[in-house]
Amino acid sequence: MQFKPLVEKEAGQPIIIAGPCSAETEEQVLATAHALKDQKIDFFRAGIWKPRTRPNAFEGVGKVGLPWLKRVKAETGMKVTTEVAKTQHVFEALKHNIDLLWIGARTTVSPFAVQEIADAIEGVDIPVLIKNPINPDLNLWIGAIERIYNAGIQRVGVIHRGFSLVGNSSYRNEPLWQIPIELKRRFPDLTIICDNSHICGRRDTLADVAQKSFDLSFNGLMTETHPDPDNAWSDAKQQITPATFKELVDNLVIKNAELDGEDLVSIEALRTQIDGIDNELLNMLGKRMEIAEAIGLYKKAKNISILQPVRWNEILEKGIVKGEEKGLSEEFIAQFLKAIHQESINHQMEVTKPSMIKK
Ligand code: PEP
Ligand code: MN
Repeated sequence: MQFKPLVEKEAGQPIIIAGPCSAETEEQVLATAHALKDQKIDFFRAGIWKPRTRPNAFEGVGKVGLPWLKRVKAETGMKVTTEVAKTQHVFEALKHNIDLLWIGARTTVSPFAVQEIADAIEGVDIPVLIKNPINPDLNLWIGAIERIYNAGIQRVGVIHRGFSLVGNSSYRNEPLWQIPIELKRRFPDLTIICDNSHICGRRDTLADVAQKSFDLSFNGLMTETHPDPDNAWSDAKQQITPATFKELVDNLVIKNAELDGEDLVSIEALRTQIDGIDNELLNMLGKRMEIAEAIGLYKKAKNISILQPVRWNEILEKGIVKGEEKGLSEEFIAQFLKAIHQESINHQMEVTKPSMIKK
């Protein structure tokens, strides 16, 4: 796939999308838009159709809100975007000259729904942003990108809005940064936007998450803004005023995404050292597996089970203490040692499995 930029921008300048979670009233939409119009906003967002977890919650104003977005364009000059989830939404949005469509997280999980949208926009030259699916499945996300791309859309980008996981977290949706990083590694020219609002679910961490995404070379930001956030009809806890949004953007440090010649020389020696260490780590891991296999054969001869919980616990506890001395987090050490331990078990299983019956 070969993607084109969503909009023409000066190199390194982020794409900024702001506006309310939902269009509520014509006054609220226009008040937000006028308060944002001098902030170099690339697209004004407002949800017209809202996918809500439970019925009877506010499900968006529906198509009556589309002329309000037309007024935003006419009065402020900003381009506008809204979420589409089915054919009818696409047709209505196109009829009202919406400049960019986005596909929501609950839609990306369904290949049928994404294909329906792809079929509806086939042959139309409009940029489309695809939010990650709510579950951390990179292939499902890529599948949605392919469906839209195959409909002839080259101005495709993605929005990272975090993943819904069970358990306590300070995030509304876990960022699991390694997933968008891997997406960017596979598709370097794909525009990737951070939706800090849905990742955070609260106001006080929005700036940190936005900065983190820029440190990871994201190409833009989408933030929910509302003139009276506490009284918003949806996602009240995470919305901020246009003035607070201006402050957030003004304080962002945008780093140069590409290394130039001088940078490369300066970090070359350090990178060589890193490569050497990675190489050593892999050699050591290979050796560790050979030893694990020898133990596996011994266990087989003596009929001893492969998993030895006491020993494993000892390795983990010692590792965490040692790791902390070296400034490595408990979370990292636990993940690292669990992966190594699992690989050792796999090797032991392999060498101890009953020999294949010869034909
Ligand atoms: C939204 O952007 O308002 C929205 C519904 O987001 P998501 O699809 O990420 O939940
Ligand atoms: Mn929202």
